[in-house]
Amino acid sequence: MIVRTDAVVLKSMRFRDTSKIVTFYTRRFGKVAAVAKGARETKSKFGAALEPMTEVHLVLYKKAQRDLQLVSQCDIVKPFKNIHAGMERMQTALSVLELLHQLTHDEEENPAVYALLTETLEAIDQADRNFQNYLYAFELRFSALFGFRPVFEHCFVCGRGVADENPRIMFRIDRGGLLCSRCADRRIGDRWAGISTSIGSPTARILQRLLTARLDSLSALAYGGPVWNEVDETLRSYLRYHFEGWRPLKSAEVFRAMTADGH
Ligand SMILES: [Zn+2]
Repeated sequence: MIVRTDAVVLKSMRFRDTSKIVTFYTRRFGKVAAVAKGARETKSKFGAALEPMTEVHLVLYKKAQRDLQLVSQCDIVKPFKNIHAGMERMQTALSVLELLHQLTHDEEENPAVYALLTETLEAIDQADRNFQNYLYAFELRFSALFGFRPVFEHCFVCGRGVADENPRIMFRIDRGGLLCSRCADRRIGDRWAGISTSIGSPTARILQRLLTARLDSLSALAYGGPVWNEVDETLRSYLRYHFEGWRPLKSAEVFRAMTADGH
């Protein structure tokens, strides 16, 4: 069957002498791997359309009982030129793609994830600084789409605001919620013994903005090293707990090493 869908190229690897195996995240079918025959020949009809971090219009020969589909045609919709031109932008976008690749299964359709992916790439393409915010925002919003939307504004037991709490607030990783000092003191949280960490109230505010603010505003969201470390650690613990397939991102390790000096 011939099918058409928009897609983002997640990764691309050599296959046999002249071909490639390309993994796409598609709007209609979720993650799909396909062979692009002749894609490594100099006069390939695919041109640059099979490069990772490119949004394309894809035509596939698709069979239900087959792991590897066949690319018939692939045309660039958005090349995300700025992403490809800047090292930090590229590292951020590669981290987003790597995360999506590891946390999704083949052919599980999820148009909301596709929309989040393309909006995130668009925002990274347009951003001029604080690129890591886009990976964090993607991690939080991706979790929300799979039913693990964390709450950073109020205590998940009593609903009391936690903005003035200090110095530390308990964050229950398993529940995805903060515990105010009163509930933590009364050990109410023990009823659901589980994994927790503690974060400062500035970190809670930043996490809330990363979760809910307009993506194009995140380039202006700046914060210091201690908060950055807490955001980073909290999200790693959160994803590790809620997603079985989670592994430390290779591209994020590179990114962390690159940005460590700046924080
Ligand atoms: Zn409470």
